[in-house]
Order: sequence, then C-alpha cells, then structure tokens
Amino acid sequence: MEKEKIIIIKSRFLAEIGNSRNEKELYDIKVKFVGRNGELTKILKNLKNLSAVERKEIGPLANQARQEIEGIYENRKKELGSQVDWEKEKIDVTLPGEKISRGSLHPITLVYREIEKIFSSMGFEVVEGPELETDWYNFTALNFPLDHPARDMQDTFWIKSPKEKMVLRTHTSPVQVRYMEKRKPPFRIIVPGRVYRNEATDAAHEHTLHQFEALVVGDDINVGHFKYIAKEFFSAFFGKQINIRLRPSFFPFTEPSFEFDISCTVCGGKKCPSCKNSGWLEIGGAGMVNQNVFVSAGYPRNKYQGFAWGFGIERLAMMKYKIDDIRWFESGDLRFIKQF
Ligand SMILES: [Zn+2]
Repeated sequence: MEKEKIIIIKSRFLAEIGNSRNEKELYDIKVKFVGRNGELTKILKNLKNLSAVERKEIGPLANQARQEIEGIYENRKKELGSQVDWEKEKIDVTLPGEKISRGSLHPITLVYREIEKIFSSMGFEVVEGPELETDWYNFTALNFPLDHPARDMQDTFWIKSPKEKMVLRTHTSPVQVRYMEKRKPPFRIIVPGRVYRNEATDAAHEHTLHQFEALVVGDDINVGHFKYIAKEFFSAFFGKQINIRLRPSFFPFTEPSFEFDISCTVCGGKKCPSCKNSGWLEIGGAGMVNQNVFVSAGYPRNKYQGFAWGFGIERLAMMKYKIDDIRWFESGDLRFIKQF
C-alpha cells in the first residue's frame, strides 16, 4: 500500500516538475511533495505507526524517494536559472516612460544671452577677461587716483600675493585696457562678466555681481553714437520703445561722464509707482573714454575718441522679470531658479 503510494508520488512529481516554467513554480511543486506537510513527508511521518517489518521496507524506499526528488529539483532549478524568463523580460512598450527632470537656465544666463544676441546683431564682438586682476588693470590704468575710495579694503576684496597687488575685479573695465593693448581702433566690443564688491548684503546689494559694458572706439565717436546704441539696445531688450536721458556725473575712466536713465519700462514715461512718479529709471553709467586710459593702453593721446558704458546685469534681470530682491540670484534656491 505505502510502497505503491511512493511510486505514484514520484511519477506525479516528475510530471509536474517537467511543466514548471520558473523557479517559483518549481519551488511550490517541491513544497507540495517534500515540504512540511508534503505528500511524501506524510508517509515518512507515518512510519512509526507501521509494523516493524513494514517499516524496514518502506523506510528506506521513502527516504530514497525523498533524495531523488531533492536531486531532480536541484537539477531542474539549474536548468531554469540558465534560461531567460521571457515573462519577466518582456518589455511593455505601452507603459509610460520614466520622467526625466530637466533643468532650466538661470535668469542671469538668460539676460547674458539676450544682451549678446542684440549686440552681436549690431556688429559688436564679445570679449572676456580674468576675474582676478592686478591693481594696475583694475585701478591705475583706468585713471583711479591712489586715494580713490574704491581702493579701500571696505569696498574691495584684496588678495594676498607675493608679487603684485591682486584684487577680485570690482568692474569689467580692466578688460578695456587688456583689449586695447592688443588691438587698434576702430572696434566695438561688449564685456560681460562677474565682478566683486566687499558689500554688506541686503535686498539691493550683493558681493558677487554681474556686469556688462560696451566700448566703442574710433576717429570720430561721440556721445550721439552712445545715445543711439543705448536706445536701440534697450528697445530691443524690453521689446518696446525706450528713451535715454543723460545726467552729468563723475567716473575716473571717462571724461565727460554721465549717469543714464531709461524711460520707465512700466508706464513708458507717463509716471507710475515703479518709477517713483518720475517717468525714468536709473540704470547705469557712461562717458567718453578718458585720454589717460588710452595712454595706459599704449595709444597716442588725443588720436582716438570712444565711449564706454555699463550697468549691472542683476538690475536689468530684476526689471525684466520683476524680481524684488537681488540676493535670489546667488541663493541657489531651486524654487526661484525653476521659474525661468
Ligand atoms: Zn513708470
């Protein structure tokens, strides 16, 4: 009786295991026959209830069957392991793809690109220079007197250097002299770049800033050229007609010098809270290049004329995108950056 049961169990096991398609199915079959409550296990557990004679015959048979089942199971497992499981490997092309998060350009970069695009269309060359400058290029060559307040530790980051006095450039103007040392007029360039000021920061002040300046030099360049170029640029940048107003000012590297305003980008000059009811917005500085700067660059005095003008990129970005605090730009805050 028990002997026949063992033979049937073995043949059923063989039949079932031959149809198993993966390790999970295989394992379930094994448990069904030799697991804790498996069919063969039951026979083994029942041995103690058999007579001594029966036990002597059935015991070895059952144990042998168990070993065979274990052996066949291990072989089949290896066999399945070397096969590709097509059920699992199947690629469902109708499933939605994994979302790739995309970055966006920083507003300062956007403004840079816009400026470069507009000026390139007017035939300007884009020039860059070092951020770590010598005292000569940052101040002396640009006609700053030795006691000028910008040379003070309070306003400028000085760098300890064994040879020359070095400074984190306070403006992009040193590039003017560097460029003119190598090139003869006429030329028109723009110089965008990062500059540094030793400032206490607040909503309107940062220690790390971006500046832009333009320099046009030739035989007969005058203030009218500057006004025309500035008007063209701001009108293109803000996408509306912009007027320019000059006010007398002082900078060491220009003579005469001006502060310049643009007509309010919100009200167009009709007066509103954005322009404090003046119709104008202060934007930057400009002037005719001081002849001392030409001499520093190796040009003869009074041979050429040119204008230089510049402004802060942050100020322009704040106006264009209506940003109320300059510290957002360097904050690295993704909530801010992802809006652009
Ligand atoms: Zn206004």
